[in-house]
Amino acid sequence: MTMNRRNALKTLSLGLLSTLVNDRMMALENLFNDELKRGDFGKDFLWGVATSAYQIEGAYNLDGKGMSIWDTFSHKDGNIKTNQTADTTCDFYSRYPSEIKIVKDLNFNAFRFSLSWPRILPTGRTQVNSKGIDFYQRVIDECLERGLEPWITLYHWDLPQALEDRGGWKNREVVDWFSEYVLLCAKTFGDRVKNWMVLNEPFAFTALGYFLGMHAPGKYGLKNFIPAVHHATLCQGIGGRILQENVKNGRIGTTQTITLADPFEQNEEDIEAAKRADAFLNRIFIEPAVGLGYPVSDLPVLSRIERYMKPGDPDLMKFDFDFIGVQTYTRIMVKHKGIIPVIHALPVSPKRRNVKQVTEMKWEVYPEGIYRALKFYEKYPIHEIYITENGAAFKDVLIDGKVHDQERIEFFKEYLKQVLRAKNEGVNVKGYFVWSLSDNFEWAEGYRPRFGLVYVDFKTQKRYVKDSGEWFKEFLKN
Ligand code: BGC
Repeated sequence: MTMNRRNALKTLSLGLLSTLVNDRMMALENLFNDELKRGDFGKDFLWGVATSAYQIEGAYNLDGKGMSIWDTFSHKDGNIKTNQTADTTCDFYSRYPSEIKIVKDLNFNAFRFSLSWPRILPTGRTQVNSKGIDFYQRVIDECLERGLEPWITLYHWDLPQALEDRGGWKNREVVDWFSEYVLLCAKTFGDRVKNWMVLNEPFAFTALGYFLGMHAPGKYGLKNFIPAVHHATLCQGIGGRILQENVKNGRIGTTQTITLADPFEQNEEDIEAAKRADAFLNRIFIEPAVGLGYPVSDLPVLSRIERYMKPGDPDLMKFDFDFIGVQTYTRIMVKHKGIIPVIHALPVSPKRRNVKQVTEMKWEVYPEGIYRALKFYEKYPIHEIYITENGAAFKDVLIDGKVHDQERIEFFKEYLKQVLRAKNEGVNVKGYFVWSLSDNFEWAEGYRPRFGLVYVDFKTQKRYVKDSGEWFKEFLKN
């Protein structure tokens, strides 16, 4: 071999070697970047799991509890896809100690649960059910003894049926009923619980329950929806104020659902349709709270609220919350469609959009959505944000006591990376709650979609921590 050829070969192999080394280094670097660490979120970042009373407690008619609109609704044939009820569901009512132990074992710091209004006030007002109060005291004890912060939601959709019989959220008297309930809870539990959320997703319970008839109490149309919206907005603000006045050192928040609405095509009609959908889905409840009033110019139908407004209402609707709980799962893409009432927009199904991955709810997996949701709130004067719900239902299969839910693990990793991205860009996001601790009653869908970190065999009530639960345990350790 001539000197020249030898040199050329040497140069070539050195070049190859350095490409190899570079590639390997880049791969290592990517792996490193790819690896999410709890520490990246900061020492004070809060990690929790979220639940709600009707979805997990069961014991629907035990120990003096009154009926809720969800008891009535789920007991009627055809309302729940699988014709199931939450009469027993996860039986949290008697199993709460072992359930809360799991939260701790998985290394979370906080447990979010809701109070069932009819368990505390069976007819919605006046007569207090001491056994209901006692149950929640024991749940709080259990959290505190295990070093978990209890986070209470006052209303997660289970209105006392007795109040629905008097018009429910449509009747302005709900403001007084709710105020009485909030005051009682603040005085009873406020010495030991500091983190409170007034309403869970008011958009969801007014739209699904009073406009589309898909959730309890199964009412339809604008004549129900419009007053329900206004009364829920009043309760959001007034509830916040009652908590602030009665919970010493309390941190008072409320939660909002956010489903980003993007135009299907970048044409003027679809862009306008997306704007209306966004006002409808994401702005009705936050804007009056921060003093902007209802987003009437982007959603003219809201001008009908005028007839339910009383002097002084805009001030009552306002409240300077310590934090907003953001709950997001997916996004939609819409096309202009004149015949669709209110928003004149039609969501294009993920299937038609050739979306890569959907969940069991047929929701697009769209991690960037949580980043955009967090940025969405930058335009409002709010102090702190917690992600109070995020998660996914996938087809879980129990084999030999294990659920290998790799898809869910990937979901959390990708969504959390986007939370971190927003945080690193300066969004004041202070914590993240997984929806949900265990599989539970998924409202009108019944038990089919499973959102839990823990698999529940509803026949035996046996629990199996899924791989995603183990992933969190490892991720959160120390
Ligand atoms: C609700 C939960 C529900 C979850 C998944 C949220 O909108 O607050 O109660 O289970 O979404 O659908």
